[in-house]
Amino acid sequence: MPAETRLFLCLKDNYGVLLHDPESGATASIDAPEAAPIEAALAETGWKLTDILVTHHHADHTGGIVALKEKYKCRVVAPAAEADTIPAVDLTVREGDKVLVGKLSANVIETPGHTLGHIAYWFHADKLAFVGDTLFSIGCGRVIEGTPGMMWRSLVKLRDLPNDTEIYCGHEYTAANIKFALTIDRNNPVLEARAAQVGQLIAEGAPTIPVTIGDEKLANPFLRADVPDLAVDIGMAGKPAAQVFAEIRARKNKF
Ligand SMILES: [Zn+2]
Repeated sequence: MPAETRLFLCLKDNYGVLLHDPESGATASIDAPEAAPIEAALAETGWKLTDILVTHHHADHTGGIVALKEKYKCRVVAPAAEADTIPAVDLTVREGDKVLVGKLSANVIETPGHTLGHIAYWFHADKLAFVGDTLFSIGCGRVIEGTPGMMWRSLVKLRDLPNDTEIYCGHEYTAANIKFALTIDRNNPVLEARAAQVGQLIAEGAPTIPVTIGDEKLANPFLRADVPDLAVDIGMAGKPAAQVFAEIRARKNKF
């Protein structure tokens, strides 16, 4: 049976998401920004929390772990490189490890840059990827602990997932990301179409995710740093992709 998901907002602009295996009844929370909205989503669905899959150590992704574990006795899975800074970890994972949520199976993909130990969970059979603060819709996370080159390689790993992979990210930043993207990629009809679509979703109060990798790689300037025309547009013709990426990221930081 196909996986089911439940998406909701936490804190100010974090996304909470539950992943449910209808066959076994297992349910994972991807990160745990805060306990209350996750408990509310569990109550609404009738799902029982069995796992928390942590992408990285930031407090707005881990603040709810202790309370949820206390209440549900769930297993906490976290990146090996950040296990010391994440509470109540039961299982640490690295690149290439498999994580089961009931019968749903995820591959761990290391995506350092935003933090050094950041990971994504790719449920390939279910065509879902939970990417934390590495990739956002039409944006990417700030490069806080790593280098731009490291972040660029991490984004390329996610870009290489199958086009029909649905991406769930850690924050609702899409509208602001689109405003910025239009200053970088000025002649991209796919981006313009997405801008219109996102405007409508926001007007309806609907979430702007998930998005597919196939759509994202045509519209997200941070995934297009190796497109020659884009480099030309920002005055970096012929420069290596990692440098073009670093320039786009630096402009976003000041935007
Ligand atoms: Zn973060």
